[in-house]
Amino acid sequence: MSAIADNLQAVQARISDAAALAGRSPESIRLLAVSKTWPLSSVIEAANAGQRAFGENYVQEGIDKLTAATGQKLEWHFIGPLQSNKSRAVAEHFDWVHSIERLKIAERLSAQRPADLPPLQVCVQVNVSGETSKSGCAPDEALALCQAVAALPGLQVRGLMAIPEPTDDVAAQRAAFRRVREIFDRIRAAGLPLDTLSMGMSHDLEAAVAEGATMVRIGTAIFGERNYK
Ligand SMILES: *Cc1c(COP(=O)(O)O)cnc(C)c1O
Repeated sequence: MSAIADNLQAVQARISDAAALAGRSPESIRLLAVSKTWPLSSVIEAANAGQRAFGENYVQEGIDKLTAATGQKLEWHFIGPLQSNKSRAVAEHFDWVHSIERLKIAERLSAQRPADLPPLQVCVQVNVSGETSKSGCAPDEALALCQAVAALPGLQVRGLMAIPEPTDDVAAQRAAFRRVREIFDRIRAAGLPLDTLSMGMSHDLEAAVAEGATMVRIGTAIFGERNYK
């Protein structure tokens, strides 16, 4: 087996163990393989091991890979900060966007989504770490933003995404993920049929699964340490 295939199996085992501890079914948690900075060959290696969903942070890098891999029937998620001038490329090429933090970007994506594609599947990104994080809407804005996004024809709002401040303190990890889960529950109680809680990365996926994550976004534990240059 390739190193990536081995790593995928190890990550799936971590998800299954965390799910078992939480009394959840492992099938209720999807694995998103975050392939940013890694070449197409790494994506193909993961795809050959059965991985279908991939996450990218940089628009052009993601489009280069997804257009080269069209034969593989993969699902592509944009998870990075999104600037207005890049929204059209994202609307035309990706299946999902996890990083909706203001209505203006959502409106652009909806208007720019090609009519022959299914609606873009989106998550609203929530900032539960306050000052230390600049990305995501404030928790008390999440409901109104989800409601406004739900009204846009080119988008389907699926849930919330969060990237809590990194910490090795498991109790603190869980507390942050619990805050996201509580916002998610409140929005569902208000009548929006959200089904996706996108939270948990290589270092904290167990805490995220314990608090209800339905999609974990894993890069390093699958592909190795990234080298930005
Ligand atoms: C890079 C990234 C990940 C993956 O992080 P790892 O620690 O490598 O697992 C997940 N989510 C987002 C938004 C990212 O930018």
